[in-house]
Amino acid sequence: MTPGSSVDRQLSQRTGQHWLALIVALALIGSIIAYNLATMRHRTISQENQRLMTQARVIGQNIQRQLEATSRALKGVISDLPGLQGSQNLAQANKRLSVLADAMPGIRTLFFTDTKGNILAANRPELIGRNVAGRQYFSEPQQHPNPDTLYISPPFKSVLNAYVFDITRMIPGPDGRFAGIVTAGVDPDYFEVILQSTLYAPDMWNTINHGDGIRFMTMPYREGQAGKNLAVPGSLFTRHKESGQPENIFTDTAYATGEYRKVALLTLQPKELQMDKPLVVIISRNPDAIMKNWKNEAIFQGLLFLMTCIGSSAALSLLHRRQALFEQKAQRAEAMVQIRYQLLEYATMHTVDELLQYALDEVCRISDSPVGFYHFVDPDQQALTLQAWSTRTLQEFCKAEGHGMHYGVDQAGVWAECVQTRAPAIHNDYAALPNKKGLPPGHAPVIRELVVPVIRDERIVAVLGVGNKGNNYTTRDAEEVAYLADVTWEIIDSRRAQQELKHANELLATEARIDFLTGIYNRRMFDGLLVAETARACRYNSPLSLIMLDLDHFKQINDTQGHAAGDHVLQKVAELISGRIRSHDIFSRWGGEEFVILTPKNDTAQAAVLAEILRDMIEQYDFGNGLRLTCSFGVTRHICGEPAEVFIERADTALYQAKHNGRNRVETA
Ligand code: GH3
Ligand code: MG
Ligand code: MG
Repeated sequence: MTPGSSVDRQLSQRTGQHWLALIVALALIGSIIAYNLATMRHRTISQENQRLMTQARVIGQNIQRQLEATSRALKGVISDLPGLQGSQNLAQANKRLSVLADAMPGIRTLFFTDTKGNILAANRPELIGRNVAGRQYFSEPQQHPNPDTLYISPPFKSVLNAYVFDITRMIPGPDGRFAGIVTAGVDPDYFEVILQSTLYAPDMWNTINHGDGIRFMTMPYREGQAGKNLAVPGSLFTRHKESGQPENIFTDTAYATGEYRKVALLTLQPKELQMDKPLVVIISRNPDAIMKNWKNEAIFQGLLFLMTCIGSSAALSLLHRRQALFEQKAQRAEAMVQIRYQLLEYATMHTVDELLQYALDEVCRISDSPVGFYHFVDPDQQALTLQAWSTRTLQEFCKAEGHGMHYGVDQAGVWAECVQTRAPAIHNDYAALPNKKGLPPGHAPVIRELVVPVIRDERIVAVLGVGNKGNNYTTRDAEEVAYLADVTWEIIDSRRAQQELKHANELLATEARIDFLTGIYNRRMFDGLLVAETARACRYNSPLSLIMLDLDHFKQINDTQGHAAGDHVLQKVAELISGRIRSHDIFSRWGGEEFVILTPKNDTAQAAVLAEILRDMIEQYDFGNGLRLTCSFGVTRHICGEPAEVFIERADTALYQAKHNGRNRVETA
């Protein structure tokens, strides 16, 4: 398992959750919109149904009032008939009918007949004497006589070429038998007004139809509609009749026009009028027109929703892409840090060359490159030295050419370019380059190359090149390779620094302890040892003595033989004494031509014996060219609890005493 995989899994899990949340949210919004639209649609339809039916009822009521008025008028004529019949009363009858017809706006003709159908009196004189026995409005009451029935004739084409219908009552004879009719021909203009007044949309049309199925009129006017028979199987009219309901609303193809319509049908046959046939008011609208607003709203909301979906999805995927990119970056950064750590660890137990090899392998792995070189660059920036390489393809070649191979910058191809521009160079078209560095025949050609410089103090110290990645090198590759090249240099550099430091430390340690002229302990070291030795002597209740010695008239040697001779004498004295004391005696240069010897396990007398031996030895020694020298000694023993200065002071006093007493002697205190 790579360290990135759990992060990847977390990321994709989070991504999935985001999408799920978005889908749920969108589904919720979608269902709310759909629900609202459905509700709106339902409301639009039911409102329209109500509205249509209301208009149909308004028409129905108007027609009913007209029928009632007409029925009353016809009844009035019948009851007045005994006074109107007979040729002497004809003029009066005509006048009466004329007045009645004029008073009723819906009536165009008004007349009555004898039993045979001859018009006896009429509101219009030209009708008198005509025979209407062949007309349905006459034959129907004649064949089915009923004095209470209001006969509604099917529409027919009048002499004026307009469709009309008649409202008729039978005239009962003295014996109650059929004795003719009194009939009113309706005025189509009047009905037109009724139908017209209820049109509320341009796509709407209103019609009046006879109960037997013959269409009387349509509004707005449509050619060929009047006189049409709707009573055919499957027509909406037939469905309405068969339903037995007085009111129906259908949305279907209308038989009369072949159009898809919303149709309200209303049967008008009030009981009190005792009509033989009903009238059927049919009004309709184009369903598309009804739903137009709703459809626009639905399209608008749908588009809005679609845009919301697209927008939010795009935003989310953008967010995810950015997140993934960020995560990827973080992972790469993590990988870089890890490689850095590995290199550091590797460096602790390997040589610089091994480290370079290892680093280069890592660089090649991370940049997916089979070819890699690490060159050091001369401080004069004029030559590169091959330090390491990492490639199966080129290993042979490099072995042949050898580690440490030098190139002049002018021979170094694109590596030189990197040195000169001091910036990473990417060549994904390496083969096409004019200044490429060719490989010997038989070796895989370099196809792509990425070269990065390592810069220290504004100078290029190394150049790292990788090559032949499967696809193009990117600036990110350049960044990573540059980073690793730099880290490698840093490690190599710090190793060098560490080595220098170690050396310096060693030197420093010696200088801190040893007197550079005589090679014995210096005063600083002596001070430290003195503290430790006095403590130890007290702890073990063991004697500890100090011998302090000073060369006699040393100044004269310097003055007569020179400073170098003086130095030599100092070295020699140190050497002589070092050779005679025990290994655990601490011998140190106190300063100038004064020395101290800290001698454990010796009391004052024993130490004075040692001092005497040393005094004698120096006195006997020939320092060359007959040069002789004596020393004065002060000896004292350490007293537990006293400060070191007091101990030294006492030795110094003894030494002063020796000088005072004539030099070349040992004094104790
Ligand atoms: P005495 O101690 O017997 O009184 O006489 P002296 O000549 O030794 O006395 P003094 O302490 O005045 O002189 C010490 C001289 O030692 C002075 C200094 O130039 C010399 N000296 C101190 N350190 C060194 C050194 O490291 N090398 C050399 N060549 N001379 C040194
Ligand atoms: Mg001195
Ligand atoms: Mg001296």
